[in-house]
Amino acid sequence: MKKRSILCLAITLAAFIPVTWADGEALDNPWTKIKSPASGQAESIGVPSAGCLRGAQALPDQGPGYKLMRPSRGRTFGHPRLIATIEQVGKILATAKKPPLLIGDLGLPRGGPTLSAHSSHQTGLDVDIWYLRHRPWRNRKNVSVREREKLQATKMVDRKKLAALPAFGKEERAVLQLFAENPEVDRILVNFAIKRELCKTVPQEPWIRKIRPWFGHDHHFHVRLLCSPSDRLCRTNTDPLPEGNSCDSSLDWWWSEEARQDEAKSTDRQEHPVMPNLPAECAPLTKDL
Ligand SMILES: [Zn+2]
Repeated sequence: MKKRSILCLAITLAAFIPVTWADGEALDNPWTKIKSPASGQAESIGVPSAGCLRGAQALPDQGPGYKLMRPSRGRTFGHPRLIATIEQVGKILATAKKPPLLIGDLGLPRGGPTLSAHSSHQTGLDVDIWYLRHRPWRNRKNVSVREREKLQATKMVDRKKLAALPAFGKEERAVLQLFAENPEVDRILVNFAIKRELCKTVPQEPWIRKIRPWFGHDHHFHVRLLCSPSDRLCRTNTDPLPEGNSCDSSLDWWWSEEARQDEAKSTDRQEHPVMPNLPAECAPLTKDL
């Protein structure tokens, strides 16, 4: 068969194969089809893994001290408090002439499930931030979309040794501290090896209480804000933040055989996402297109 007819055959076949995004996001998810925020005052509804958002705001593409990465994914929406928090930390870094924050996913225009590797990010209170704060971009006001689509994040965890890599240093710590000390922030999820590294290097720092160990997160950390007190249907988490720095024996569990099994289950859930049971108050948000 000639090259051209192979190409035609491939295109024809592709038309009959149900289309999914590379990360498993099904196209029949109503939340990914909506391109504009729901009007009204900002309100987070539900929990991060089963919820939605009214009155979202989009994070501008780039601003002082931050750059939005992978803009084509369209997950740039959040509660206005989340946008303000990112901008606030960005300004601190810009003033200190530090490299910019590289912002990964926020949420969809009305929150809701993406049915991708993220099970949270549904109430407009979560943002992923890449560890690499790209030094050559320090003094550039505008970085092209192409560059921001292409740059890869830096890995901070050795998956075989289950330990932090030397790349995780003072600057990364300083950025975690800026977010953790922000009163809007409920907690920050990091790989368990990063948490251990902080327990080794700065155990006395009160802000490390908000740094919580989790699976994955080799290349980024995940910042979660508290619910606004006025959002009566919003719940930040089901488990409250433990007292103390959590640098005790409870941290050892993450290196156990049981943890490896849980990790495998969590990877499997990410690869086969299911539609969560959303609060009834979210239903109207999918209809008002
Ligand atoms: Zn995340």
